[in-house]
Amino acid sequence: MVRNENSLISIVMPVYNEGKHIASSVETVENILKNAKINYEFVLVDDGSKDDSWEILSGLSDKNHAVRSVRLSRNFGKEAALCAGLDETKGEAVVVLDSDLQHPPELIPEFVRIWREEDVDVVEGVKSDRGTENRFYRGMAKLFYGVLLKLTGIDLRNASDFKLLDRNVVTAMQEMPEKITFFRGMSAWVGFERRKVPFEVHDRVEGTSKWTFGRLVGLAVTSITSYASAPLKLIICLGLLMFAFSVVLGIQTLVRYFMGASMEGFTTVILLILFIGSAIMICLGIIGLYLERIYHEIKGRPRYIISRRKN
Ligand code: UDP
Ligand code: MG
Repeated sequence: MVRNENSLISIVMPVYNEGKHIASSVETVENILKNAKINYEFVLVDDGSKDDSWEILSGLSDKNHAVRSVRLSRNFGKEAALCAGLDETKGEAVVVLDSDLQHPPELIPEFVRIWREEDVDVVEGVKSDRGTENRFYRGMAKLFYGVLLKLTGIDLRNASDFKLLDRNVVTAMQEMPEKITFFRGMSAWVGFERRKVPFEVHDRVEGTSKWTFGRLVGLAVTSITSYASAPLKLIICLGLLMFAFSVVLGIQTLVRYFMGASMEGFTTVILLILFIGSAIMICLGIIGLYLERIYHEIKGRPRYIISRRKN
C-alpha cells in the first residue's frame, strides 16, 4: 500500500435525518481537506432518513464528482450504515466521522499525517470529555465500558467512531462475517498498530441525538453477547454456589427430620421456591440472549440493503 501525498482518503459519514445542515457540514469538511491538500472522496450513507437528506445528498453528488452517496432501503442503524460506507470506499485509508460534526473535522489532516508518516494503521479519536452529555448518560457509559473491558479485554473507554483506518484494516473488518455489527468493537478486535488522538466532543450543529435510551441498551447487550461468553460462565458459578448452599441446608434438614423435630412451616419453602424460580428464569434469559444472537446470525441476512446510489 502506498502512503504518500497522493493517497486517496475516503471520508465516510452516516446520515440520518440531518437534512437541515448536511450540505454545509460536508462543505466544512471539504474545505478543511482542500486546505490540507488531501486527495479525498466522500462516501455519504443515508440511513433511511425520513426528511429530505437523500435529495440533498444526491444533489451534492450531482454537483461534485468526489461525493458518492448511497441510500439504505430503510433505517438500519448507524453500525450498519458505517459498514455500508466502508464497503463503498476506494481510498488507501478511510476516515469515519459523524455527519453532525461532533467529531472535529479539523483533526482529519492530523490523522492523515500520522498515518502517512508514522507506521500506524489505525488512528483513533478518543473523547477527552463527553461533551454536553448528561451525568446519568456519562455514568452509564462508564459502567458499560468498564464491564466490557472486564469481560472481553477490549478497551473502549472514551472510544468513539471517529477513526482513520488503513485499507488493510478495512479489509480485515469486511472479512468478519457477523451480520449484527458493533463498529467500535470490530475495529478494536482486529488489532493492528494503533495511535490514540484525544479530541473534544463538539455540540451537535443542529437537532438532537438520534440515540434513545432503549437503543443504547440494545447496543450494550449486542456488544456484550458478541464479544464475551462470561455471562454464561457466571451462570455456572451461580449454580455451583447454590449447590453448595443446598448441600448445607439439605444436611441440616435431614438431621432435624431424623431427630424428630418438625419443619418451621411453609415460609422457608415459599422463599426457596421464589428465589430458585427467579434465578432459573434470569439464567434462562441470559442463555436466551445468546440463542437470539445465533438465531439472527444463522439467518444470514445482509447487513444492509442499498436502494439508491449516486456516482
Ligand atoms: N446515525 C445513523 N443512523 C441512525 C442513527 C444515527 O446513521 O440510526 C448517524 C447520525 O446521522 C450521525 C451519527 O450517526 O451522523 C451519530 O448520531 P447521533 O449524533 O444521533 O448520536 P450521538 O452523537 O448522540 O452519539
Ligand atoms: Mg452526534
